[in-house]
Amino acid sequence: MNIAHLTEEQLQTLADSTDGTTSLEMDHISACPICRIKFENYQSINLAIQELPMATFDPDLPDDIVNMLIPQKIPIHWAALVAATLGGILVTVSAVIYGKQFIALFIQLPIILRYFFGILPLSFICIQTVLFVIRYRQKLNMIIKKTDSFAT
Ligand SMILES: [Zn+2]
Repeated sequence: MNIAHLTEEQLQTLADSTDGTTSLEMDHISACPICRIKFENYQSINLAIQELPMATFDPDLPDDIVNMLIPQKIPIHWAALVAATLGGILVTVSAVIYGKQFIALFIQLPIILRYFFGILPLSFICIQTVLFVIRYRQKLNMIIKKTDSFAT
């Protein structure tokens, strides 16, 4: 009789299938009560697993769950895109046609008005940037709050 007990791995392999087993291993199991109990435990576990119903995937999921699985496309705001493109073309064409007259007109203006027309678009850009940062931070805070509520 082989005195060394079989390893857990050997016992699991034997319980899975007795096809490739050596007679030496089976001799040990039949002679050693410790290894026999472990072997029978593994066999009953295997049987229980085989009797479990197969996991299936139901393709008829509700739409809201399907929408969660499929990544959503970011909607393109066509109207805004067309308006911005047309506006850009209009500004470029008018700058080519009336550019020189516009510069001549601008130079004739008093200095205060020149600064005013220079500062106007700059302040508009600054205000828009600040508003964008505020909205971005609000969105981030909402995401952080949501993830916090998931964690608790
Ligand atoms: Zn043993």
